[in-house]
Formats: sequence, structure tokens, C-alpha cells
Amino acid sequence: EAWPESYGLPYDQLQQILLNVPSAEKAREWSKYYTAGPHLGGKNLSQALWTLNKWKEFGVEDTNLATYDIYLNYPLDHRLALLKTSDDKTEVTFEATLEEDVLEEDPTSSLEDRVPAFHGYSATGNATAQYVYVNFGTFKDFEDLVNANVTLEGKIAIAKYGRIFRGLKVKRAQELGMVGVLIYSDPQEDGEITEENGYEAYPNGPARNPSAIQRGSTQFLSKSLLLLLIHCIAKLIVGPGFLPGDPTTPGYPSKPGCERQEPTSIPSIPSLPISYKEVLPFLKALNGHGPKASDFNKWWQGGGLGHKGVEYNIGPSPEDVVINLHNHQEYVTTPLWNVIGTIKGHIPDEVVILGNHRDAWIAGGAGDPNSGSAALNEVVRSFGEALKAGWKPLRTVVFASWDGEEYGLLGSTEWVEEYLPWLSKANVAYLNVDVAAAGTHFEPRASPLLNKVIHDVASLVQSPNQTVRGQTVGDVWDGKISTMGSGSDFTAFQDYAGVACLDFGFGRGKNDPVYHYHSNYDSFAWMEKYGDKDFLYHQATTKLWALAAAQLVESPILALNATDYAFGLETYLDRIKPTADNLPKHTHFNWAPLERAILEFQESAQAFDARALDLKSQLGDDVPWYHWWKKVRLWFQIRAANAKYKGIERAFLYQPGLDGRDWFKHVVFAPGIWTGYSGATYPGIVESLEAADVENANVSSPASFFGAFTDSFPFRNGALSFRSALL
Ligand code: GLU
Ligand code: CA
Ligand code: ZN
Ligand code: ZN
Repeated sequence: EAWPESYGLPYDQLQQILLNVPSAEKAREWSKYYTAGPHLGGKNLSQALWTLNKWKEFGVEDTNLATYDIYLNYPLDHRLALLKTSDDKTEVTFEATLEEDVLEEDPTSSLEDRVPAFHGYSATGNATAQYVYVNFGTFKDFEDLVNANVTLEGKIAIAKYGRIFRGLKVKRAQELGMVGVLIYSDPQEDGEITEENGYEAYPNGPARNPSAIQRGSTQFLSKSLLLLLIHCIAKLIVGPGFLPGDPTTPGYPSKPGCERQEPTSIPSIPSLPISYKEVLPFLKALNGHGPKASDFNKWWQGGGLGHKGVEYNIGPSPEDVVINLHNHQEYVTTPLWNVIGTIKGHIPDEVVILGNHRDAWIAGGAGDPNSGSAALNEVVRSFGEALKAGWKPLRTVVFASWDGEEYGLLGSTEWVEEYLPWLSKANVAYLNVDVAAAGTHFEPRASPLLNKVIHDVASLVQSPNQTVRGQTVGDVWDGKISTMGSGSDFTAFQDYAGVACLDFGFGRGKNDPVYHYHSNYDSFAWMEKYGDKDFLYHQATTKLWALAAAQLVESPILALNATDYAFGLETYLDRIKPTADNLPKHTHFNWAPLERAILEFQESAQAFDARALDLKSQLGDDVPWYHWWKKVRLWFQIRAANAKYKGIERAFLYQPGLDGRDWFKHVVFAPGIWTGYSGATYPGIVESLEAADVENANVSSPASFFGAFTDSFPFRNGALSFRSALL
């Protein structure tokens, strides 16, 4: 029997199809479809069915819905006003509309049924209180306020969007006894492209429309961008409720009728998002009250509304100047629909999965997520064309259109929780695209196992930027591959199932027009005028995605690289070493066992990759027919090597999970709680070292996850070393 790769279509012909079929014009058509009306999580059945039918039409017959019943909220009512109170009366100084401007140039902004401004998983509540400006609302920011004796308890916080996941702003405010949170988009986050610098605002120019409002989830899940965290509060911000997915079904799928827990990972104080235009009266009313942000400390440099008369005082507001924040949410348990398409491969237990979410906060969602949805449709269509040309895949490919990502990675997490045994056995890689096109900057993040795949495909696809003729995505890329944090649907695959993940898209570059993230202006009209005029970044994403999948599906030896992982571990280790510098006197941390283990992994990985390469080259050998058994032996050797590749990422799972958030099981990557921009690597070690600061504890105490790490970590000499696992 011939090597199955030669079934159907030669690989270079498959590649040609995947480079030639993806069409910018079609991507534009799909984008237009998805962005024509609201499609919140759990309110997009027509789009789920449309997607399902399209994929069947494209040739993926085996396409089905995977439905879950999920607990989430929809907005009912809200009110936000600035009040001036006196003994005998209350005067309304300003009443916010919490509406984005209706623009003639942007049809979705005027839809009757456009989605109100609200936060996913926010609490119903009605608070009237003085208020405080809390900068970005990071833990460090709140700590600074506490140290400066600014009263927070009983007050409402006004925070800027940015730097950290919005849910953590609300979480910290809640922990400090605050009674409500407003989060607004300060033009400070827009870099050079601001009205202050002379750029016109959308729709007339590339700057932020002043009325734009960022919706978004306030579930208590961390992202990896927390900066400058003070160690002593580190302990406080982890709690049991700290996970993606349905907050009432931690660790198991939300099937109809299943048992449910009291949700602990969602806020209990109300919050609302607001535009910079409408936050102005609130911020101006703080002028002259309390310390000034600019002389508070360096981190607090203030924001981008100085030219609008905001002095960025911290407050609190005077006793008679208060905010009334009323937020009314309806909580329901309601169906969500993933669309799952499968092309069966020759090898049953090696599966490559591609996914994107379909739900958006707003009617549009032309960038987030439906630029990715348009690209995914083009990927499916391209593979459909390959099937028609006779392609018979070596491995199984699964396509997923997730629902409910925006609320907290709901559809993907529940699906991973349901199919965990199968995924653990068979899933080789998960390739995610959320926002395919919001600018021109290629932004991949990945498990190092997939670094080589990214480099390979980036060099095969022409960049839409042809300032130099013929340049590829790789040519204009800075070469940076970030580590896996959280914030999109790869999280359950990477952190819960231990699957090697890749996530990429084209984000906003420094000089690109401002991307109106989670606002009504993330619309088809914006995309056509500013984001991706000719849909070429949609098309490039399609090609990169399809080629990466093809390489992983077709290459007889899995296109994973162990050496990159092993050397990545050393880089990450060097980065986290300074966390041990703050340890109490007379304690020290012994890095040697881990260093030895990494060294051993490096040697084993290099030998293993070399062996795999050798097996691959033997495939090309001419073997006379009467030596048929050599081919059979080679096939078994390759199968065995691939099983080992598949096991590498899984080996980093630690089943008891990270301290305080045991749903997260990966010991190398996690969404950052207290690491900086370099990403959360070795979360267990870092968190334990930082906790040692608080408790003045001996870091070698096995009470913390650190202890578990050294005892059970797969590197530990003898226990499960990569030498015995790989060689
Ligand atoms: N991508 C969404 C956001 O950033 C959801 C992220 C999450 O819940 O982790 O708001
Ligand atoms: Ca669940
Ligand atoms: Zn998204
Ligand atoms: Zn989003």
C-alpha cells in the first residue's frame, strides 16, 4: 500500500488550490452577510444555520450544530446621570444617552434593533454615589489610590479602557468596596491618530468617533496584559471563580438539564461602558477635586482629553456631586450554537481544528469577529474545492464557528469540556482566528511547537502591502510570536486540554486608522472605508490559515517542532528569574532542577526532531517491492513519532490545576494574573514566588503550587522526562 499522502492530490496541487481559491470579493460578500444585523451570543440562530448550509454547499457534508444551554445576560434598561444634590432638591446636571451617534454613512449605526451599551455578565444594580477617577483600573492603580488615602469604599469608579481585561477592573473595584464602575475609551489609547493631532473622526477621518462605546464582557477572567502588579495584592485577585465558559458549569458541558453551580466568576456591582464624549461632564466635574493624576505618579500621566478641558483630577467628587448609575440586566439560561464541520481523514486519531467565533457585541462586528468568519468561510470553500479536485486528507480537519465567545469563550469552552477525552487523544493542533482584519499588523501567538508553521506559511503568502513588489507577509512581519494568554477561543484548547494552539490576525498598526473595537462602528462601512478597503487582509488571512492547516494535515511527519519548545522554555525561564529577587532575606529559589530538566529536554528535542527528519527523508527512498516490509516498518515508526509529537503539549498539563484557578492546567502558559507584558509563563512558579513575598513564607513550602510543580512537573528527573518520552 502506498503512503496515503499520495492518495488523491499531490501536496503542491493542494497548496496551489489553497493559494488560488480564496477570494477577496467572496470574503467581502460573507462579511456583508454577517454584519447586516445584531448577532449576540445566543441570538444568532439564523447565522448559525446559514453558516451550516454554506459549509455543506462548499462540500463539507458532515456539518452539524453543537448546542449548549448557557447562563448569560441581555440588557433591559439603564440610566446614567450626573446629579447635584442639596438639602431640598436634586438637580440633573447631565444625563448620558449611552448611545452612539447615528451616522448616515454607516447604516448599521441607525438600526432600530441596534445593541444597547452594556457589559457581558454585569450585575443589575442602582447606585448613587460620589465617584473617583481610577486611571486604567489596574491593581497597581487601585493600590496607588489606597496608598494615597483616597476613599474608595462606597464610591463609583471611572476607569479608562485598556492595559488589562475590563472584567478585572470591575473585580478589583468590587473587592475594594466600590459600588459601581464606568469604563470609557480615552483617546490616549489611540496613539497618534487623534482629533487633538488634527485627524478627523470617523466617518470623515481615521480618528475615533467621540461617541464610540466599547461593550464587552466583565466576567472575571484575566488577560495577559497586566502590568506592574504589586505583589502583595496578588493573593487577593485569585478566587475559585476564575474561568472561561458558562459560569454555572465549571469543568463540564452545559448540556440541557445539567446540574448548575452558583456562579462565582461574575461581578456583583453594576458597570456600564461609556464614550469619551459622554464621560466629559463627569471628568470635568472632578477638576480641582483631590490629587491631580499628572502629579500623582508617573504611571498616572493622565489621558487624552486635556484639550477638552479635563484636568484629570482623581477626586472623589464633592459630596453634593454624585453619579446615578442604574443597570438592569436580564439573566437567562439559553441555547448557544456552535457549527462544527468535519472532513474525515485517513488517520482517525490525528485531528486538526480551525475555529473562529461568530457572535458579536454589535450589529456589525466587521472586524471582531466576522472578518475571521469571512476568512473561515473562504478556508472551508477552498478545502471544498480541493475535495472536488480529488483531495483525500491524511488527517481529519474540523471547522468550528463558535457562539458566545464575547461573553467568556462560551461555545468553545463548553465544546472542549464535552469532547475532552477525544481531544486529548486525537487533537494535534487548534488554529484560531478571531479578528482577521482590523489593520495591517501581522500578530501571531502560538505554542512554540507551531513556530515553524507560522514562518513557513508567512513566506508563502503575498502581503497585501506591496510597497515592495512581491513581498510576503513574512517580509513585512517583525518576526514576533507572542505566548498564549487568553482572550479568545483557543483558551480551553491550550490551558485545559493541552493542545498546541496558534492564533493570528492583522491588528491595528501604529499608523492605521483607529479600530472601533466592540463599538457600533466596527461595521461593514468602517471596514470598507478604513479597515480593509479591498478585503485583501481577509484574503491573506484565509491563505495563511488554510496553508497552516494543510501542512499540519498532510505532512506525513507532523509539522511540529520540539526544539523550538525546548529553547522557548529557556527564554521564558530567563524572563521570570527576576521574580525571585524580591524574596525575603535568607530564602532563595533553586532554579537548578528546572534548568537541568530544560537542558535535558533541549537535547532530547533536538535528537527527536532530527530523527523525525530522517524518517521523513526515508519516505523518499526507492524501496524495491520485495522489501515491502521496510515501508510498513517506516509507517509504524512515523505513527509512533507523531504520537510523541502530539503528546508534548499534553505533558505540560498538571491535573490539579493552578492555585486558585484550578480549571487552568497548563504549567507553562496561562492568562497572566501578575506577569507583565512578556506574558504569563510558568504561572505556578511566578505566582508562588510572588505570594512568598506576602506571607514571608519559605518558597520551598510544598503548600503552594510551586511545590506541586517540582514534584509532578513532567521534567522532573525520572518521573516523566522528555528523554524517555521522546527517545
Ligand atoms: N474576546 C472577548 C474580550 O476580550 C472575551 C474575552 C474573554 O472573555 O476572555 O472581551
Ligand atoms: Ca462548562
Ligand atoms: Zn473576537
Ligand atoms: Zn470581541
